[in-house]
Amino acid sequence: MRGGEEMEQGAVVNRIMERAKAVLEWSQAHPGSTLRELEEQVQKAVQAIRVELMEAAVAQQGVGAPPEASCSCGGAWVFKGYKTRQVTTTQGSIRIRRAYYVCDRCGAGFFPPGRPIGEPGGME
Ligand SMILES: [Zn+2]
Repeated sequence: MRGGEEMEQGAVVNRIMERAKAVLEWSQAHPGSTLRELEEQVQKAVQAIRVELMEAAVAQQGVGAPPEASCSCGGAWVFKGYKTRQVTTTQGSIRIRRAYYVCDRCGAGFFPPGRPIGEPGGME
């Protein structure tokens, strides 16, 4: 694993730990809290952790590339930068960052799901 990836993983783990710590601090600052109130605090923190962990794991899969070298019309895919999309998962609504391509002939846009389909680790 490269150093940058390790640092990024450490940052994600730290943010998750901070969210867990915030729940315990909230509990400490609110003596006599009901089970219901504590459940709400834990629920909010866990939901935030689910999204954070999912976004980080998805980001590790890369920013994607077109599955074919050329568009179905025969035109070439031209890289147009990155776009962020909101995607619904079982762990909540997450943001994913992907490379965006446009066909130089017909203008079709392509927003890859991850690694090319069929490649080990591809998303679909
Ligand atoms: Zn095309």
